[in-house]
Amino acid sequence: MKNIIQPGHPLIKTLVTRLRNLETDSYTFRKTLSELARLLLYEALKDEKTEEINIKLWSGSGNFPYIKGERYVFIPVLRAGLPMLDGVLEAVPEASAGFLAIKRDEKTLKSTVYYDRVPPLKGKTAFILDPMVATGGSLDHAISVVKGKKPDRIFTLNVIGAPDGVRRVCENHPDITMVIAQVDEKLDNNGYILPGLGDAGDRAFNT
Ligand code: URA
Repeated sequence: MKNIIQPGHPLIKTLVTRLRNLETDSYTFRKTLSELARLLLYEALKDEKTEEINIKLWSGSGNFPYIKGERYVFIPVLRAGLPMLDGVLEAVPEASAGFLAIKRDEKTLKSTVYYDRVPPLKGKTAFILDPMVATGGSLDHAISVVKGKKPDRIFTLNVIGAPDGVRRVCENHPDITMVIAQVDEKLDNNGYILPGLGDAGDRAFNT
């Protein structure tokens, strides 16, 4: 799989461990997800072209490099992707956001989109924010919905994945780039990632 970036940075690993720790409270959990999303975005954009913009300086004016953030649309998958939005918008405040809600049936693990507020994406780069890639079903579904809006490029920013889910998404969508902090061992019989961190939405929102 060529379309996957696993940064392996010690700070990223540390933040993932903080998320796994059951003693991490929900406020810190959300803040950590936000910070991780910013670091994953940093990796996603490492080869991004900048354009020269003219700015006023204390010493006159000049041309300096700047990322064209208006081209970016960040799309958290509710609920668990929501805390990731703050971190990426802090880094690129010119970007916009769209929202997707997907739920999966606990028994069949089949996913359904029940809320889609993603704007048209022509000429845009879409970043799908979804911390957990378990079976890969909901991320696969989210990517298909986003593809229907015709963006130029799609990145997914993910925190923990299970090997089969990650493979499924990367193989079904060779034209996207997945940036993921950690691929764990496996799924349990209920579709939870092991060792994982539990239900990311529940952990983030104290439910
Ligand atoms: N979703 C989660 O929040 N956690 C998992 O382990 C799997 C799916």
